[in-house]
Amino acid sequence: MIAVVGGGIAGLAAAYRLQQQGHEVQVFEASDQVGGLAALYETPGDPIEKFYHHLSKSEETIVELAEELGVADRLEWRIGKNAYYVDGVVHPLDKPWEILAYPHMSVYDKFRLGMLTMEIDVRGGKPKFDTYDDLEAYEDVPIKQFLLDHTTRGVYENFFEPLLRAKFGSRMDDVSAAWLLGRIKFRGERDLLKGEYLGYFRGGFRPLLDALVDAVGRENITTDARVSEVDVDDGAVSAVTVETDSETQTHDTDSVVVAAMPNVLEDLVGYECDIDFQGAVCAVVTMDEPLTDTYWLNIGHEAPFGALIEHTNFVPPRRYGGQHLLYVASYIQDYDEWLWQADDEEVEDRWLSHIGDMFPEFDRDSVQEVRIARNPRAAPVYERGYLDLVVPYDLGQETVEGVYYAGMASRAQYPERSLNGGIVAGYECADRIDEKS
Ligand SMILES: Cc1cc2nc3c(=O)[nH]c(=O)nc-3n(C[C@H](O)[C@H](O)[C@H](O)COP(=O)(O)OP(=O)(O)OC[C@H]3O[C@@H](n4cnc5c(N)ncnc54)[C@H](O)[C@@H]3O)c2cc1C
Repeated sequence: MIAVVGGGIAGLAAAYRLQQQGHEVQVFEASDQVGGLAALYETPGDPIEKFYHHLSKSEETIVELAEELGVADRLEWRIGKNAYYVDGVVHPLDKPWEILAYPHMSVYDKFRLGMLTMEIDVRGGKPKFDTYDDLEAYEDVPIKQFLLDHTTRGVYENFFEPLLRAKFGSRMDDVSAAWLLGRIKFRGERDLLKGEYLGYFRGGFRPLLDALVDAVGRENITTDARVSEVDVDDGAVSAVTVETDSETQTHDTDSVVVAAMPNVLEDLVGYECDIDFQGAVCAVVTMDEPLTDTYWLNIGHEAPFGALIEHTNFVPPRRYGGQHLLYVASYIQDYDEWLWQADDEEVEDRWLSHIGDMFPEFDRDSVQEVRIARNPRAAPVYERGYLDLVVPYDLGQETVEGVYYAGMASRAQYPERSLNGGIVAGYECADRIDEKS
């Protein structure tokens, strides 16, 4: 039997692939439901993820999995409008004329930004098309220095700096230029006249998770079951200890796939990962009426949250019984920060007050409910030298034979952690186990 620690998308994908290869698998999930970071809230209509989720057209493995599981017909590709909020004004930034009309960058700044996003190096006046091909060459280059060298100060200060602050807070200067270039490549298909296509399943990501659970077999997945120990015999994994509310059990196993955060890996097998993680606090605000007509609103000033993501400007409110759903989200670098320490009521009050300051027409009475989710390890800090810190899929050399890792610190979760990356990481582990069997 092969034990999988964690019933998030990575653990379920590993179990699915291993079973297809003919292995016997048991998934142990510590919480009371599978899905991990893709867990859901109920609404009067479809459920909604506790943390905002969508797919990019560049992510193919999740689409292939949906096809295999018979749920691909639920996948819809929609345009969600992007905008930048500066000095009380929402500036849409999807269509060429919207970008041209944006008043906070010069025409030259926009040209340099456009060239970088098309991966064309125009320094020295002669366009070069291969400068950004080798990402590893930028692994140790500070992002600010790179942007000042490859674009303009205006692009850095008026476009990237607020975005980096929202995503990485006090760690923004540690991030590598390779991460930014990787993110630019990660973006999917764009309609020149409309914007980027983003993917979302009808019914949220639940149909995909349900289909995966059915394929793995409910009898092979145990929730409320925390793996607390990995036993070793003669230099190889021999068993896992699993704790449930009522008992502690030992299961003999040939291999273990740890599909959870690297601290779990450290606890179980002593492997230390040096990647720093940031936490996230994310609210779903249920409203009677829309706040804006934008899906993803970046904010050009220091705010108590990083972005406003109005889900029902991407997926229509009729799917949610007519409710308008707004994510208010912020990352946490330091667990002593006010936001991490404050209780839900304080967070709600501060966030809604700030939204009121930004949008004087916002009516707090239109808010029916605010649900707040927190996670202490929501995303890695993609700092310089990150790829050297990534945890290998097969940890047989570093720990003991039979230990595999498919969690968020794996290679597939770079340059952006995603559901697709989790599936790829699960498959990578399964294929390595199968090769050795
Ligand atoms: C704010 C936010 C926004 C995001 N936006 C997107 C997006 O737009 N698109 C996208 O594709 N992805 C997005 N993601 C990322 C995506 O959610 C993750 O990459 C993915 O869910 C990770 O899956 P995983 O299985 O690796 O880990 P997790 O989902 O963390 O699952 C790990 C599981 O292991 C369990 N576990 C931990 N310890 C043990 C133990 N000892 N025994 C048993 N079980 C254990 C946990 O309970 C958990 O269920 C977002 C994430 C966040 C936080």
